[in-house]
Formats: sequence, C-alpha cells, structure tokens
Amino acid sequence: MVRDLPAPVGAGVYNIYTGTRSDEGATIPTAAQLGLEPPRFCAECGRRMVVQVRPDGWWAKCSRHGLVDSSELEARR
Ligand SMILES: [Zn+2]
Repeated sequence: MVRDLPAPVGAGVYNIYTGTRSDEGATIPTAAQLGLEPPRFCAECGRRMVVQVRPDGWWAKCSRHGLVDSSELEARR
C-alpha cells in the first residue's frame, strides 16, 4: 500500500476513476497507475476534480482537498 500519496488520490474512500464509494475500501492507486491515467474524482470526498493533462503529466484539483500534480507523485517514487 502506498501511504504517502496526497489525500485526493490516496485516501482510498472513493475510487478515483469512477467516483463510487467502496465499503470494502477502494483500491489505492500506485504511482505507476497514476502516471498512465489521471484521477477523475477525489479519493477523499468523491467530488469530480478539475483535471488538466499536460504532455509531461497532469494535475487534478479538488475544490476542497487541493491540487495534486503528477510531478510531485513521481518525486516520491
Ligand atoms: Zn476532496
């Protein structure tokens, strides 16, 4: 399990790709997965995030939990 992901991608309450809540605990994505596909929903609150894809990555912003940038995730690998 990856423990140091920011809450909007690592909280594990909501699926970041479907926005559905998982009672079993959503699967927390790996940094490698996030490198391939940006998140769409905040893992902590399930809000749809504003996502901007760049040639070298992406950022995703939850209005409540803030912005996650893929370059920050890669730095943690
Ligand atoms: Zn949120």
